[in-house]
Amino acid sequence: MTDSKTIPNDLPTLYIVPTPIGNLADITQRAIDVLSSVDLIAAEDTRHTGKLLSHFGINTKTYPLHDHNEQQKAQALVEKLQQGMSIALVSDAGTPLISDPGYHLVNQCRQANVRVVPLPGACAVITALSASALPSDRFSFEGFLPAKSKGRKDKFLEIAKVERTCIFYESPHRILDSLDDMLAILGPEREVAIARELTKTFETIRNMPLGELVEWVRSDENQQRGEMVLLVHGFREEASDEIPDEVTRSLSILVKELPLKKAAAMCAEIYNLKKNALYKWGLENLDN
Ligand code: SAM
Repeated sequence: MTDSKTIPNDLPTLYIVPTPIGNLADITQRAIDVLSSVDLIAAEDTRHTGKLLSHFGINTKTYPLHDHNEQQKAQALVEKLQQGMSIALVSDAGTPLISDPGYHLVNQCRQANVRVVPLPGACAVITALSASALPSDRFSFEGFLPAKSKGRKDKFLEIAKVERTCIFYESPHRILDSLDDMLAILGPEREVAIARELTKTFETIRNMPLGELVEWVRSDENQQRGEMVLLVHGFREEASDEIPDEVTRSLSILVKELPLKKAAAMCAEIYNLKKNALYKWGLENLDN
């Protein structure tokens, strides 16, 4: 059973409130209730948030809290909270703190024993992962890729052998350079997904081997536009060339009835091994 009480009114509270990443219908009822009832909304860009608030008929006052002033303004907000105000934190889109301001404010609130209540909601990294068809049991969110090629290549070297899905935010004007750097380090076979314009009219989610993806994005300018998330399949060990005894025994039996090529293909399928490795082993070790 869910607890529908939106704002417990006994303690001053900082609410972390996600906002839509494109489609305004993705705001939650609880987000609207909190934004309507708090005393103040700390916003990354008060003009941008003003438009969202007026769309939902919310009149709460806003207060600027962006990357450049956060450390200094956070103290003032903690004092307001300690004086009994309730405050909501929003960013321009999605979940605050996820490649957005808020970390210092939350940290200072927790240190000052001010209650912090997070609301669940829109977040591009999770939205992209959920439809990417890449393994989602373990993943690593890496934030924005570095702006310079050297930094990006270092980043790709760092994740080259990581077995989890690795997820990056990237801006449209750097997408081709970033994909070229990724290709140089991870090679053309690595599976990569691009999730673009999520929840919006031109939403596109595609998976391809990296070599093909780079060419596809390069050849279609539309794929270089809008907001995007890159998801990289984790590192996979090449299937081992070592052939277990049980397999060589099966191959030796099958080859008495079938051509080596066919016998090798059957064993490869049954034991999930490489056909060529089995064929080569047969040529070297069996009388054909
Ligand atoms: N806090 C936000 C969140 O929860 O996802 C992310 C803010 S970050 C400043 C903005 C980046 O998120 C964009 O450059 C893009 O990489 C990604 N992003 C945001 N909205 C998106 C969307 N609708 N589709 C794809 N990526 C998006």
